[in-house]
This record gives sequence, C-alpha cells and structure tokens, in this order.
Amino acid sequence: LPPSGLFTGLLEPSLSTGLWTSDPRLRDCMRHLRRSMQESAGTVMVDQKLFRKCVGANILLLTQAFRRKFIIPDFEVFASNMDQLYYSTQRQEGGHVADYIPQLAKFSPNLWGVSLCTVDGQRHSAGDTKVPFCLQSCVKPLEYAIAVHEIGTEHVHRYVGKEPSGLKFNQLSLNDEDKPHNPMVNAGAIVISSLLKVRGFLGVPKVLKPSVCICLQSFQSEKETGDRNFAIGYYLKEKKCFPENADMIAALDFYFQLCSIEVTCESGCVMAATLANGGICPITGERVLSAEAVRNTLSLMHSCGMYDFSGQFAFHVGLPAKSGVSGAVLLVVPNIMGIMCWSPPLDRVGNSVRGIHFCQELVSLFNFHNYDNLRHFARKLDPRRLSLDDRNKSVVNLMFAAYSGDVSALRRFALSAVDMEEKDYDSRTGLHVASAEGHVEAVIFLTEMCKVNPHIKDRWGNTPLDDARQFGRDGVVSVLTEYQQMYLCSNGSQSKTEDQRKFDTVKVVV
Ligand code: GLU
Repeated sequence: LPPSGLFTGLLEPSLSTGLWTSDPRLRDCMRHLRRSMQESAGTVMVDQKLFRKCVGANILLLTQAFRRKFIIPDFEVFASNMDQLYYSTQRQEGGHVADYIPQLAKFSPNLWGVSLCTVDGQRHSAGDTKVPFCLQSCVKPLEYAIAVHEIGTEHVHRYVGKEPSGLKFNQLSLNDEDKPHNPMVNAGAIVISSLLKVRGFLGVPKVLKPSVCICLQSFQSEKETGDRNFAIGYYLKEKKCFPENADMIAALDFYFQLCSIEVTCESGCVMAATLANGGICPITGERVLSAEAVRNTLSLMHSCGMYDFSGQFAFHVGLPAKSGVSGAVLLVVPNIMGIMCWSPPLDRVGNSVRGIHFCQELVSLFNFHNYDNLRHFARKLDPRRLSLDDRNKSVVNLMFAAYSGDVSALRRFALSAVDMEEKDYDSRTGLHVASAEGHVEAVIFLTEMCKVNPHIKDRWGNTPLDDARQFGRDGVVSVLTEYQQMYLCSNGSQSKTEDQRKFDTVKVVV
C-alpha cells in the first residue's frame, strides 16, 4: 500500500472510533508504522508480519475500538451531533470580551472552540481549539483537586468552606466561621494556594500536564491590576485564614500564576476528562488525582462553579462545570467525558455566552443531565448505546408484550415514548401480534389509547383485522372493525361526530 493507503487502512477507522493518532497509547503502533514507511521510501506493503508488529503493542485498545466497546460506541454519529451543536451555538452573538488586562482584551469575539475527550480517550474538536488562552478561574477546581489529593479533605476544609456564597466571586467576605465560603471563589482559591505553597508544592501538577505553560504577561498584568485580590489577601490575613508560616504575598503570586496557565480547548478537555474519569487520565492511563479529590471537586463545581448562575446552571444543565473570565467553560459529564468550551464574549455574570448556550443545548439533545432518567426518557439521545441496538431492543420488547397480552408493559412503553407502530422484520406491528393471539385488552389499549394505525399491512399483505379473522379471534374482530371505521373518519373527514371528537381527545391525553 502507498503510505496514504496504509494510513487510511489503519488510521481512518480511528476517526470513526474517536482514537487520535497522537494518542500516547498508540505511540508504539505509530512508531512502527512511521519507521516502516521511512525504510521503504514511500511505499509500504502491509503484510501480516508488519500488521502484527504495528498493532501488537496496542491490541487491546484497538480491539476495543473496532468492536465498538468504547463508552461512545457510535462515535461518528456522536461527533456529527456535536458539530451541529457547535455550529448552531456559533450564531449566538452578544456579550463582552473581558478587557481589564490586554492579554484578555486582545481576543476576537468571534473565537469559538469546543473539544471533548471521553473516559476512553475518544476525542473530537470543532472550531478554534488550538488557540491558547488562560485558564483563569477554570484553574480553581484543578487547584482544589490537587490540594485534596496531596493534603486530604479534612485538612483543606479546615481552611475553606463548602457552601455557595451567594455573592460575587471576588467579594471580600467570609462565612460564619471566618473561612472563605468555598474553593471556587477567589478568597478560597487564594487560601488553597497558600496551603500548597506551605507544603512546598512547586512542581507542575500532573493533572495540568497535557500542555502547561504560564503566560508571563498575563501573570504580570494580573498582579498589576489585582488590587481586589490583594485586598482579599490582607483581609484573609487579618482574619487568620492562612496556615501558620504562610506568606500571603507568595500565595497571591502563586494564585496569579495558576490563573495564567495557558491551555487550548484540546488540552483542556483532557483535564476535564480526567475529572470525568475519577482522576485517571484517559489518554495516559495514569492516576493523577485520587477518587475522593475528584468527587469533592465535582460536587463543588456543581454547586459553585458558574459564578452567580451556579444554581440555574445546576438546575438547567445538571452537570459540574467551571467558567473563567477568559471565556472558558470546563464541563464534566461524569463517567462519560470532559469538554472544554471557549469563546471570549461574557454575559453579565461573567460566563461565556456561547459556552452557556452550548451546555444547555448539549443536555437538551443528550440525556446527560444528572437527573435525566436513563431508562424511560426515550426522547433524548443516549450516545452510550448503539442506536441500532436500542431500536432492535424496543421492537423485540414491544412484540413480546403484544404476544403475551401484557398490557401493563405496553403502557410502560407508550409512556416512555416508544413508537407503538414500530414494525418487525416481517413488517408486523404490535397490533398484528396482539390481534393474532386474541388479546382483546391489549388490542383495546393499542387502539383506544395509543391510536395506532390499524391499516398497516405486514409483508404478506395482511392487516391486524385479517389476522384476527384468520385465527378466529371474534372479540378482536369486533373491536378492530369498529376501530377501523373510527380511524378512517378521524384521519380523513372534515365534519366530526361526538364520538370522533372524544376519540381525538383521548389521543391528546395519551
Ligand atoms: N484572575 C482573575 C481574578 O482573580 C480570575 C477571574 C476569573 O476567571 O473569575 O480576578
């Protein structure tokens, strides 16, 4: 195969599985491929030996990918849904780019990117996902998670509360016990910086590793314009909020540095995915945070992560997230994926206009809200399942209920928005099956309550009434004969009788 053919053969399916060739887990596979290409000067014959060599080291991962065993089995469909959400959100105008420092003011309001990484390391990006921006307040959950991981929950919360403040994020305010309200407001994050500093915590934390560099100009500007944060620092010092031996100015410096860490959507989503994956980085397989640290962090993001919109966000979106003044929104869908949205224009409370819109649209399309019912709410998509599986399962269940005359199961399906006219392989509907079996109650339910079409023909050209006649189901024959007339009138004629109007009302109620 020519090199492109080789890549197409081995790598193109990666697009459909969500595995990227840059995935560190595929490093060996890619090395072998590249070496073979170099050695053969342009044309590579992929024989069995080379194939084995390439995939050998990653066989488990590749098998999982190609057998669609990842958390999002139908990744291509999912990615195209995400693209649609991306483009519809792009049209959202409005908001203002933060301009208190030049490093934020420089960004065009048109910038808009979304990247995601699943707990299996499947990745997708749309838009400006390679442009670096500062994490700003999105670093707060990461800083807190590292502190809990290193120092422990009990120790950290000796200094910081867990309650939403109901106040602005940079308010000079403490709770009843004279502690910062929570780690997601500036006061909390500054105290946590001091905890990390006192512990001599200097190195780059692993959770921030995918691509970490501190933007020195931002750091400098944050420091120069940070009067409010200095005021908070002095207030915290006066109220003895810092640990013993803490250097308040050093803690502030560290806080400004953390806010100035640069990421891109592509690197940031891996951090979010690490939180979604209980602290194990999905693309390196390394545990970087303890499960406890992650759970604490997600809880606080859920209640306090979106400035003065946190309650509404928890209500409408129902997912842990943290936003920052740079226009970033770090969103976690626990046990599924991490997402980084970025678009600089901010709304009144400081959240990215497009970021918020995207999160809301995401949960109206997929059943990702924490309190979405996963078993019965069939109107939303569940990308954890193969869509074909779902349809097959629902047809089989429907047919089985109709075959056994199980009206309560039929009622359950109708209430979970199952299409009660669904056909099987032979084009037979539930009404065909229930009629042939002579289940009068089931037939009454399917007709009176579900208003299914009685004229559908199976692949032998028979309607449910033909089946009932053929098997001598007299009770069903009389129900269906009357229903067929009613159905015709209700779906065809202009002037309706009292009975037909009743018929329509029931339809609406169901
Ligand atoms: N550096 C900013 C501050 O401390 C962070 C603002 C934010 O993203 O909320 O004020």
